[in-house]
Amino acid sequence: MGRKDEILNIKQFLVKRLDALRKALAVDLGSAQDEITTELVELEKREIVRAESALERMEKGDYGVCACGADIQIARLRALPYATHCIRCRREEEVQGAVDLSPSLGPSNKD
Ligand SMILES: [Zn+2]
Repeated sequence: MGRKDEILNIKQFLVKRLDALRKALAVDLGSAQDEITTELVELEKREIVRAESALERMEKGDYGVCACGADIQIARLRALPYATHCIRCRREEEVQGAVDLSPSLGPSNKD
Protein backbone atom coordinates (compact mmCIF):
# COMPACT_ATOMS: atom_id res chain seq x y z
CA MET A 1 0.00 0.00 0.00
CA GLY A 2 1.29 3.47 -0.85
CA ARG A 3 1.84 6.23 1.65
CA LYS A 4 -1.21 8.13 0.39
CA ASP A 5 -3.47 5.12 0.92
CA GLU A 6 -2.01 4.54 4.37
CA ILE A 7 -2.72 8.15 5.31
CA LEU A 8 -6.24 7.77 3.90
CA ASN A 9 -6.71 4.77 6.19
CA ILE A 10 -5.51 6.80 9.16
CA LYS A 11 -7.86 9.58 8.12
CA GLN A 12 -10.83 7.22 8.13
CA PHE A 13 -9.78 6.02 11.56
CA LEU A 14 -9.46 9.60 12.83
CA VAL A 15 -12.86 10.63 11.47
CA LYS A 16 -14.49 7.70 13.29
CA ARG A 17 -12.44 8.35 16.40
CA LEU A 18 -13.38 12.01 16.42
CA ASP A 19 -17.05 11.12 16.04
CA ALA A 20 -16.85 8.65 18.94
CA LEU A 21 -14.96 11.15 21.09
CA ARG A 22 -17.51 13.89 20.48
CA LYS A 23 -20.34 11.54 21.42
CA ALA A 24 -18.49 10.37 24.54
CA LEU A 25 -17.80 13.98 25.48
CA ALA A 26 -21.46 14.92 25.10
CA VAL A 27 -22.46 12.00 27.35
CA ASP A 28 -19.81 12.82 29.94
CA LEU A 29 -20.71 16.51 29.97
CA GLY A 30 -24.32 15.56 30.54
CA SER A 31 -23.57 13.22 33.42
CA ALA A 32 -22.75 13.99 37.03
CA GLN A 33 -19.51 15.93 37.28
CA ASP A 34 -17.47 13.94 39.71
CA GLU A 35 -13.70 14.01 39.73
CA ILE A 36 -13.29 11.03 37.40
CA THR A 37 -15.72 12.40 34.83
CA THR A 38 -14.00 15.79 34.87
CA GLU A 39 -10.68 14.12 34.24
CA LEU A 40 -12.17 12.04 31.44
CA VAL A 41 -13.70 15.14 29.84
CA GLU A 42 -10.30 16.84 29.88
CA LEU A 43 -8.68 13.84 28.21
CA GLU A 44 -11.43 13.64 25.60
CA LYS A 45 -11.20 17.35 24.85
CA ARG A 46 -7.44 17.12 24.46
CA GLU A 47 -7.71 14.17 22.08
CA ILE A 48 -10.43 15.91 20.06
CA VAL A 49 -8.09 18.89 19.55
CA ARG A 50 -5.28 16.59 18.44
CA ALA A 51 -7.53 14.62 16.09
CA GLU A 52 -8.94 17.82 14.59
CA SER A 53 -5.50 19.26 13.99
CA ALA A 54 -4.31 15.98 12.42
CA LEU A 55 -7.30 16.06 10.05
CA GLU A 56 -6.59 19.72 9.27
CA ARG A 57 -3.02 18.83 8.39
CA MET A 58 -4.35 16.08 6.11
CA GLU A 59 -6.53 18.65 4.33
CA LYS A 60 -3.53 20.92 3.85
CA GLY A 61 -1.40 17.99 2.76
CA ASP A 62 1.28 18.40 5.40
CA TYR A 63 0.17 15.54 7.61
CA GLY A 64 2.97 13.12 8.38
CA VAL A 65 5.67 15.65 7.56
CA CYS A 66 7.97 16.67 10.39
CA ALA A 67 9.08 20.27 10.98
CA CYS A 68 12.54 19.17 9.81
CA GLY A 69 11.03 18.26 6.44
CA ALA A 70 11.34 14.48 6.83
CA ASP A 71 8.40 12.15 6.28
CA ILE A 72 7.24 10.58 9.50
CA GLN A 73 7.29 6.79 9.09
CA ILE A 74 3.91 5.21 8.38
CA ALA A 75 4.50 2.64 11.13
CA ARG A 76 4.95 5.50 13.58
CA LEU A 77 1.82 7.27 12.34
CA ARG A 78 -0.18 4.07 12.62
CA ALA A 79 0.91 3.70 16.24
CA LEU A 80 0.69 7.44 16.98
CA PRO A 81 -1.70 9.09 14.51
CA TYR A 82 -1.20 12.47 16.20
CA ALA A 83 2.58 12.43 15.94
CA THR A 84 3.96 15.68 14.52
CA HIS A 85 7.66 14.84 14.71
CA CYS A 86 9.75 12.19 13.06
CA ILE A 87 11.45 9.75 15.37
CA ARG A 88 14.81 11.50 15.07
CA CYS A 89 13.45 14.91 16.14
CA ARG A 90 11.45 13.27 18.89
CA ARG A 91 14.62 11.67 20.21
CA GLU A 92 16.55 14.92 19.98
CA GLU A 93 13.79 16.60 21.96
CA GLU A 94 14.02 13.88 24.59
CA VAL A 95 17.77 14.22 24.75
CA GLN A 96 17.55 17.99 25.08
CA GLY A 97 14.97 17.55 27.80
CA ALA A 98 17.35 15.36 29.76
CA VAL A 99 19.86 18.02 30.76
CA ASP A 100 22.22 15.59 32.43
CA LEU A 101 22.66 13.43 29.37
CA SER A 102 25.01 14.27 26.58
CA PRO A 103 23.65 13.12 23.19
CA SER A 104 26.12 10.26 23.05
CA LEU A 105 24.67 8.89 26.29
CA GLY A 106 21.10 9.30 25.09
CA PRO A 107 18.62 6.56 24.22
CA SER A 108 19.98 3.97 21.83
CA ASN A 109 18.65 3.82 18.28
CA LYS A 110 17.48 0.24 18.54
CA ASP A 111 14.23 0.61 16.61
ZN1 LIG B 1 12.10 15.58 12.07
